[in-house]
Amino acid sequence: MNNYSPNIIAVSKTFSIDHIKPLIDFGHMHFGENKVQEAKEKWEKMKIENKNIILHMVGKLQSNKVKHALKIFDYIHSLDNEKLAEKLAKEQINLNKNPKIFIQVNIGGEDQKSGINKNHLSSFYEFCLKLNLNIIGLMCIPPNDNRSGKFFSEIKKLALNLNLNEISMGMSNDYIQAVENNATFLRIGSSIFGQRN
Ligand SMILES: *Cc1c(COP(=O)(O)O)cnc(C)c1O
Repeated sequence: MNNYSPNIIAVSKTFSIDHIKPLIDFGHMHFGENKVQEAKEKWEKMKIENKNIILHMVGKLQSNKVKHALKIFDYIHSLDNEKLAEKLAKEQINLNKNPKIFIQVNIGGEDQKSGINKNHLSSFYEFCLKLNLNIIGLMCIPPNDNRSGKFFSEIKKLALNLNLNEISMGMSNDYIQAVENNATFLRIGSSIFGQRN
């Protein structure tokens, strides 16, 4: 792994653009938000002024917000159902966009969490390919029980099996384990910007 160097997404949800600005001025490129409306308000102008900024949707995406999401986000990390896949397929044509998309996997099999069940992953992936979605990798949020490493190594295998190169995993609490398992996109919020209210 000589050239391993994961992308760091600075997850700036809840923070004002004034708070984020020093990082933009420093030249950081990848930023993450979890709400479409907030992203639009904060980033629309900023993205026009800074063409290098790449914006990632890391939160739950409702089908009725897809159109607005595709106008502002370059990557979608949270594709987790067929209806959303169909909507993305339709709107990416209408808007002439080609978003990079992660399938979110419910790696811990938790009822309260979003994501495709790992047993349905390969059929869901096939479904997405038929819709011409640009699926680049898998995303997960493991259970909050200090066993992230185990789940990260599991999702790494799932990605390998599907020949997907990108893995979106690792947050402030578990990014070290994510790096140990070759995450390609870390999503880090509070360790960069401070605690959220
Ligand atoms: C908020 C958020 C993060 C960042 O979380 P931190 O613990 O603050 O690093 C990462 N991923 C998703 C999906 C989030 O909603």
